Parts: sequence; structure tokens; C-alpha cells
Amino acid sequence: MTDPSSLPSPRPPAPGSEPAVQASAAPTATTVEDFRRNLAAVRARIDAAAHAADRNPAEIRLLPVSKTVPEERLRAAHAAGITQMGENKVQEAKRKATNLADLGIHWALIGHLQTNKAKDVAAFADEFQALDSLRLAEALDRRLQAAGRGLDVYVQVNSSGEASKFGLEPDAVADFLAALPVYSSLRVRGLMTLAAHTDDAERVRECFRIMRTLRDAGLQAGTVGDGQLSMGMSGDFELAIAGGSTCVRVGQAIFGARPTPDSLYWPTNGA
Ligand SMILES: *Cc1c(COP(=O)(O)O)cnc(C)c1O
Repeated sequence: MTDPSSLPSPRPPAPGSEPAVQASAAPTATTVEDFRRNLAAVRARIDAAAHAADRNPAEIRLLPVSKTVPEERLRAAHAAGITQMGENKVQEAKRKATNLADLGIHWALIGHLQTNKAKDVAAFADEFQALDSLRLAEALDRRLQAAGRGLDVYVQVNSSGEASKFGLEPDAVADFLAALPVYSSLRVRGLMTLAAHTDDAERVRECFRIMRTLRDAGLQAGTVGDGQLSMGMSGDFELAIAGGSTCVRVGQAIFGARPTPDSLYWPTNGA
């Protein structure tokens, strides 16, 4: 097992060398040992970023994102200690939750959801991080009430201003949060975002600043639960931790490069 303290700590690339924000995929993990190694490396980077920001690493949750990864490999990931998994698409998540039910995994749905899929989510998901409309809140609440369940939710915000990203506009967040308490099966935990997809670190930092400001306003108003901030992916989680993230959603740095393009999950620039 790799000793996390022996891993090189990340350092910012020299200006003009590598992009500040990059995909940083690990070699594809297949065996339990592979997963242990990749997990330890990511956890070490999280801890280093937390220390650099004067934060307690224990307050940063690592949510491994398992989309596109087949179930046999997820069994190995689970054996290596991964007990929660994030999935972007509801059909894929539902299939995995069914076929891996014996593992007791905590399933977080982190992708945009159509109202007509609310029933599926209410049936299997432990958490939903992409709430972005009251219609969806209502549909989820109705299904959850019928099932006698509650669901942890994060409100997704479009912090980048990119027309391609899902989520509420920042100036709509306060009213949206204030309207959620009537949906009593939804337990509001915080806010979620995808930062700008760019190698301009300053633009990425600005996304995280917007999120933190919205979260702090929500805490003041008492509308954002315990004020979690789900932000940061394989390419930008260190910047996100510096910006106050309490949940990083990391796929490729743990599982390896994905065979599918990001445009399958959110429209990308130029797409
Ligand atoms: C895929 C995905 C991630 C993880 O992206 P990586 O680049 O694999 O770390 C994070 N958040 C959402 C919403 C995703 O769909």
C-alpha cells in the first residue's frame, strides 16, 4: 500500500507550462490494489490542499464518481473501501444500485434530472445533488412522501455563467432556497456546482467564491441546511478545497479515464 506521505505533493504548474485545471486521470483502476493506490493518492492530495488552506481535512468528503465504470470494477472499488458512489445518469445509477444491492453502497445522483424520472430517484437514491427547479422538487417530494422516505439534496448552481451548464443562476438561489421547506421530505444539505471548464485558474476560483457567498447568505437566512458545498472534480478539486468545498466529486483520478466525452453529461463549450 502506498504511504500517502511519500507521494509528491501537488504544486502549481509554472506559468505557460501545463494548464492549471486539467483532467488528471489516473491509470485505469481494476484491482483492489489499484483502487487502494488511487484512493490514497487522491486522499493525500485532498489532505495537502486542506492543510494549505488552513482547513481540517476531516471536513472534506470525497465522493467517488463511478459513472461508466462497470459493476465488476465497482466491486473491487468497494473492497478497497469505497462505500459511496456518485452517478450522473439515473438509468445507469438505478441499474448499479440494483445489481450491487448486496454491498450497501450509498448512491448519490449528481446529474441533471427530468421531472418524469423523479419516481426512480425516490426509489433508490440516498442523495440528489442536482436539484434545479421547483417542479422537480415537487415531483420528488410527492414520490418520496408516497414511499415514506426522505432524501438529502443539494441545489445546483450555474456559477460559471456558461450557457452550457445546468443549475440555477446565482441571483435566483436565495428565493429558490426559501421556497424549499414546503417539500418536507427533501433535506436541504447545501449547494453544488461545476466550475468553469477552463485552464484559467482565476475564473475557476471566481466560481467557487460565488458559491461560498451564496452559501453564507443561505446560512444567514437559515435556508441552506448545514451549508455543505459540493464542488471540485478531478481537474480542479484542490482549487475547490481552497475555495471552501466540503464535498469533492472525483471520478477519473480514482477510476481512470472515461471512455465517454463530458458532452454526454453536460453540454460543453463549443458543443
Ligand atoms: C463526472 C462528474 C464528476 C467527476 O468528474 P471527473 O473529471 O471524473 O472527476 C463530477 N461531477 C459531476 C456532476 C459529474 O458528472
